[in-house]
Amino acid sequence: MEYRIGVIRGDGIGPEIIEEAVKVLDAAAHRFGHKFNYSELLLGGASIDAHGVPLTDEALADAESCDAVIMGSIGGDTGTSPWYRLEPSRRPEAGLLRMRKELNLFANLRPAYLFDELKAACPIKEELIGSEGFDMVIVRELTGGLYFGERHTSEVDGVMTAVDTLEYNADEIRRTAVKAFEIAMKRDKKITSVDKANVLDSSRLWRRTVEEVAKDYPEVSLEHMLVDNCAMQLVSEPSQFDVILTENMFGDILSDEASMITGSIGMLSSASLNDTSFGLYEPSHGSAPDIAGKGIANPLATILSAAMMLKYSLNLDKEARCIEAAVKKALKAGYRTPDIARKGEKGIGTSEMGNLVAEALSTCSV
Ligand code: NAD
Repeated sequence: MEYRIGVIRGDGIGPEIIEEAVKVLDAAAHRFGHKFNYSELLLGGASIDAHGVPLTDEALADAESCDAVIMGSIGGDTGTSPWYRLEPSRRPEAGLLRMRKELNLFANLRPAYLFDELKAACPIKEELIGSEGFDMVIVRELTGGLYFGERHTSEVDGVMTAVDTLEYNADEIRRTAVKAFEIAMKRDKKITSVDKANVLDSSRLWRRTVEEVAKDYPEVSLEHMLVDNCAMQLVSEPSQFDVILTENMFGDILSDEASMITGSIGMLSSASLNDTSFGLYEPSHGSAPDIAGKGIANPLATILSAAMMLKYSLNLDKEARCIEAAVKKALKAGYRTPDIARKGEKGIGTSEMGNLVAEALSTCSV
């Protein structure tokens, strides 16, 4: 089969990790007889440099016409990059927020899975992880809440005031909850819905709406947890979670926390989905300006995001499982980028890791 895939290389380590994801996708295409036609798109800092805006209408339309889009990360050093001297609506992140909003990518899936081979890189004691291991998915609402509400900063009598608005309607909550319940049905059928319902009205609506959706999924057990408690439980008893369903900002923060349990933020993939088969696939981490250009970034989150793309947008399940198996094989053989290497262990580089995964794919049989 032939597919059209949008490729956003992005900024910082973005181009380095995307190179490896494309290498692995090409190896999968070769192994299974598919053809991936890539369409290069600009977003973020690279688009500002080329066009003066973080996302052009043309790039947005091009993205929409693809079967799916894979992206490295965007943005620069927020302290020193000239992109951050621009007004907020012209900065790199504004392009990504616009793409998510305009393509209606309301559900963000972030699987957090601790490979057996990476137990040593996990900062949590093995007995707390337990024999079941750590394998969960965060379903984060992505196009509403605090990141999309009205905001302004003003000054009265020499005192600055800044306002950000957190708003959700029941439809936005419902469609994200439905995605989470559908995913839970294919996993251990347990959802922890995370909110701050003891304080926030939006969280009380969240809780009520999630409970309504739960009535259509009697096999799935639903519990509610306050976000501060969840942050604590993720560290004290991580294996209790199967699917965490939560709003935009809570999901952003909790998924970074969950990523560390997998050994490194460089391991956490993500998919942003709408109501069609289209999706935007990207690692959960940022553009890591501190290590950009050094050839040491971990490409596995991006490679695993490519696997998610095959599964969710292109319906190529076997091919996706092969990529996951190839990643596991490389880790099992002891190969580590520096972020997941043990103390004193010398890590391998970004492209070496990509080569190993691509090679393992050529002999994969799942
Ligand atoms: P970051 O995720 O880029 O980096 C945090 C730390 O994790 C750094 O020490 C970095 O070296 C390390 N790290 C991240 N990815 C890694 C990888 N693949 N391999 C090894 N180490 C890795 O977060 P930050 O420093 O807060 O943000 C940097 C820039 O990225 C900012 O401009 C921010 O806005 C942007 N950002 C973009 C996205 C996105 O593109 N979706 C997401 C988050 C942050």
